[in-house]
Amino acid sequence: MKRALENLLGTGSVQENVVLAPYTTMQLGGPADLFVEVTSAGALAHAIKTVRELDLPHFLLGCGANVIIGDAGFRGVVIYNAAQNIEFDGNQVTAESGTIVYPDLIEASVARSLSGLEHYVGIPSTVGGALWQNLHFLSPAPARERTMFIEEVLEHADLITAENDLQRVDVDYFEFGYDYSVLHRRNDIVLRATFRLTPAQEVDLRKVMTENLAWRALRHPPLDTEPSVGSIFKKIQGIGAGRLIDECGLKGASFGGIVITHRHANIMINQGEGTAADLQALVAYVQKEVATQTGYHLETEIDFVGEFDPPTGGSPVFLPRPAGLITAEELAARRKA
Ligand SMILES: Cc1cc2nc3c(=O)[nH]c(=O)nc-3n(C[C@H](O)[C@H](O)[C@H](O)COP(=O)(O)OP(=O)(O)OC[C@H]3O[C@@H](n4cnc5c(N)ncnc54)[C@H](O)[C@@H]3O)c2cc1C
Repeated sequence: MKRALENLLGTGSVQENVVLAPYTTMQLGGPADLFVEVTSAGALAHAIKTVRELDLPHFLLGCGANVIIGDAGFRGVVIYNAAQNIEFDGNQVTAESGTIVYPDLIEASVARSLSGLEHYVGIPSTVGGALWQNLHFLSPAPARERTMFIEEVLEHADLITAENDLQRVDVDYFEFGYDYSVLHRRNDIVLRATFRLTPAQEVDLRKVMTENLAWRALRHPPLDTEPSVGSIFKKIQGIGAGRLIDECGLKGASFGGIVITHRHANIMINQGEGTAADLQALVAYVQKEVATQTGYHLETEIDFVGEFDPPTGGSPVFLPRPAGLITAEELAARRKA
């Protein structure tokens, strides 16, 4: 399999048995049989076409911020998207789909006094992952009245479609919704995207960035010391998955090395030795407890990819709340009092 792929992609372009955990924000996942890193949109299109023609199972990985990869790894080819060229043309920016949204794309846009992407500061994502998910955030401060979506500034995107055609598509093609785009149901791959930005004062954009980073820092565990995949469960309109989990008293619940952080009940963190099997056990436990106590069924909003060992057995251990931790809700209540 490796030789056939290298014949088409170039000698030395294919690595074997690459452990995927370091390529994900949750630091979970076993080895990919084969691993190909692409550094341009052209190379990405070529790699996708090649694995399709050879009929090899494959998966395209961006920042790995929305996926849990099984401990047994991935049987097939993981294509790691490091195509990161960015070009400006007036108020528009075109970024290859492996471009890191923050800091790379946002910093480049803000430095040119162009507004539209600054709201998504601090969210780990490639441009491709952002369109897959319709990246969103409650912004700007202080009102935070509505969720802003990346579709609002998308002009068009270049794809290699599921049928292997190179095609430019506009925003309607994506059927964007909350945490949804057509990429969930069609095997199209985004090669690059063009965003329509608006001239603004850099100082105002930096203010939005600072406020949003501060908002996130209060609610989200820092990725470098408390690896996570962001929210685990889908939002339940008007109720909030995190609130239900909190009300059921599940903060601090852990299996093995994966724990529900006391900072935010919808976020699980990897304490170092966590496994995907631990995570699956904790997810199942939370779903069962919340269903029993409240009647609501929580659905996961992340992708599970590759081969999984059976979930860790036994009962959860409850870890105490770290001394000195103040949640965003507690801080808000203190300010009001
Ligand atoms: C701490 C933390 C905070 C977060 N906060 C937010 C938030 O506020 N708002 C929000 O919306 N999300 C948030 N997320 C979720 C995550 O950042 C987004 O889902 C992000 O867009 C994922 O991008 P990625 O590059 O990591 O995609 P990956 O996780 O690598 O991939 C996700 C899916 O997209 C597919 N994909 C990737 N690139 C392409 C492409 N070029 N073409 C087609 N399909 C592709 C993959 O195959 C996979 O199915 C958060 C995550 C973390 C860890």
